[in-house]
Amino acid sequence: MATKLVIPIVDLKKPPKFEFPKQCVNCGKPPVDKIGMSFVTTQATGAKQKLLELWLPYCAACASRERKMFLFALGPFLAGFLLVGVAVFIPVWFFGPTGSFRQTRFFDVVLAAFCGLIAGLAGGFVAEFISKFLLAPFLGSSFARRPLLVVELLSDVSYALGVSGKFDRPKQTLALTFERDDLAREFAELNQQV
Ligand SMILES: [Zn+2]
Repeated sequence: MATKLVIPIVDLKKPPKFEFPKQCVNCGKPPVDKIGMSFVTTQATGAKQKLLELWLPYCAACASRERKMFLFALGPFLAGFLLVGVAVFIPVWFFGPTGSFRQTRFFDVVLAAFCGLIAGLAGGFVAEFISKFLLAPFLGSSFARRPLLVVELLSDVSYALGVSGKFDRPKQTLALTFERDDLAREFAELNQQV
């Protein structure tokens, strides 16, 4: 079973700090480690960007499993991103139109970077998708259930062992799904003031 808590975030410029029960969010053992999860609450870019941060407590075994899963997703994604991104960047840059005016002189580089970025994201997506099928038998069902990194990057959704979060900017709510019901209940009690 899992429990979903929907928490209103009243002030997006001052996101609240949450407290977690002193238990590993995945297995309930005493925690020794913390892994962060964050959501951008304001749309402004640069220095004004505000983050809603959650620090999830983990026991040593679950923390290392969580980090491994992240790396196993990130590795293939980066490899695919670079491989396809560079493969697209070079020919577009080489054959792309160059402006003869000062203002348009770098048009080919910009165009190539843009094409490379889009193609790289697609390449990373495919590489991670394939690797997921290959790695899932070794890493278990929680690895297979996790959405692809591109999905996490392009949306306000975040997954970790035991907890997943989704930030809804228009509605100003944070939805946290706990895989353990008792932890969800305790979390709700600890954070009543927010
Ligand atoms: Zn644990």
